[in-house]
Amino acid sequence: MSDYIKSLIAEVKAKNPGEPEFHQAVEEVAESLSIVFEKHPEYRTAKILERIIEPERVIMFRVPWVDDQGEIFVNKGYRIEMNSAIGPYKGGLRFHPSVNLSILKFLAFEQVFKNSLTTLPMGGGKGGSDFDPKGKSDLKIMRFCQAFMSELFRHIGSNTDVPAGDIGVGGREIGYLFGQYKKLRNEFTGVLTGKGINWGGSLIRPEATGYGSVYFAAEMLQTKGETLEGKICLVSGSGNVAQYTIEKILDLGGKPVTLSDSNGYIYDEEGINREKLAFVMSLKNVRRGRIKEYTDKYKSAIYKEINLKDESNPLWDHKADCAFPSATQNEINGKDARNLLNNGVYVVSEGSNMPTTLDGVKIFLDNKILYGPGKAANAGGVAVSGLEMTQNSMRLPWTREEVDNRLRMIMHEIHRTCIEMADRFGTPGNYVNGANIGGFLKVADAMIDQGVV
Ligand code: NAP
Repeated sequence: MSDYIKSLIAEVKAKNPGEPEFHQAVEEVAESLSIVFEKHPEYRTAKILERIIEPERVIMFRVPWVDDQGEIFVNKGYRIEMNSAIGPYKGGLRFHPSVNLSILKFLAFEQVFKNSLTTLPMGGGKGGSDFDPKGKSDLKIMRFCQAFMSELFRHIGSNTDVPAGDIGVGGREIGYLFGQYKKLRNEFTGVLTGKGINWGGSLIRPEATGYGSVYFAAEMLQTKGETLEGKICLVSGSGNVAQYTIEKILDLGGKPVTLSDSNGYIYDEEGINREKLAFVMSLKNVRRGRIKEYTDKYKSAIYKEINLKDESNPLWDHKADCAFPSATQNEINGKDARNLLNNGVYVVSEGSNMPTTLDGVKIFLDNKILYGPGKAANAGGVAVSGLEMTQNSMRLPWTREEVDNRLRMIMHEIHRTCIEMADRFGTPGNYVNGANIGGFLKVADAMIDQGVV
């Protein structure tokens, strides 16, 4: 690492105290960019990375709401408008009790590079609240979403900032948020993505992140002349990304064997087939139950509790070929990375954002496995959000096949960019450098074109 990058990272830590996730995300990108600054000092002179690291705007607000019994609650609301050099701010909303400025800044920072990689004109942003939707009635969720949008609406717009879903924000929440925006603004525009199919949504949007992550794994395997056929796959999470990751693994002939939630995980040696996946979708999306219930229905599976603060996560300690982390940040630490390699895993495609700690990333890179970082591997979701914006602008919906073909083409293109950039900067096969550099160059050139703003 160059002295310039070392001092830049030290400055980020000093200027943004108490934001470990944000420091981690910056450190990973900055390390990759060292080799770019050596060849292109003009980016350093123009202070491009320093500017990308500082959000263009951070909005923090109070979200007061009243429950069914008349009790008043107050949550924190956020929107980080990180970078708009190549398009309107774009990125999801996360509703989870762990949400804070550090987590949203890391997500918004990553989003800038990810959106750039998609080939679509989208800047980067992220937002959310420390509100916990788990176990709450539909009425409470609606009241909270309306209260949240009552402030957010003045900061967003179809050409300014277009939020979408993330952890805790799915179709139901996007519906309530959109309804409130429409009421306040008196306009029907594509201000949110992930909308319902009858009111401006895109086919394949719910599937896109999971499908995209499996397409990316298939692209990586193809470089070795292999496919997913017969591959045993570990998947974490059981929400949107995990469910459609399993569906696409099955489409491509793989055998998924795990799923999890924040309480624990199931391991089903016989494989999670389509019938079992349908059960999980109903359990999680309709009955909103816990993954433990899987073992009540399917006796071939075992259930174990997980605590991400433990030394290692037992989900990653099973014989397999591929791993698809699809739950949350820092769910694979150094010990987990070593366990994965010892169990034969040689493909990791990150559906979740920053699921691997910095020491875990180093272990994957040192061992030269096929490691697709989240910025590249999970970009399918935001890519189809971009396609939803296009359809909204045209007021013309595309068919399932059309959207899926475009998603596949975009994932192919992202993979090609990663390979090409890693090669060009002398680190062939390093998808982390490829994604960070590919994402950076487009934004950096746009920022230079647009002057110091
Ligand atoms: P989701 O539908 O809310 O599902 C999240 C899943 O992860 C749930 O099973 C949840 O379990 C589990 N989880 C959340 N926090 C956890 C924690 N601290 N420890 C252990 N498990 C935890 O969310 P999602 O949309 O699938 O998002 C999953 C990941 O993909 C996130 O990192 C997100 O940023 C990333 N991502 C999502 C999209 C998208 O289009 N949705 C796009 C790109 C990246 P519980 O139910 O117990 O909380």
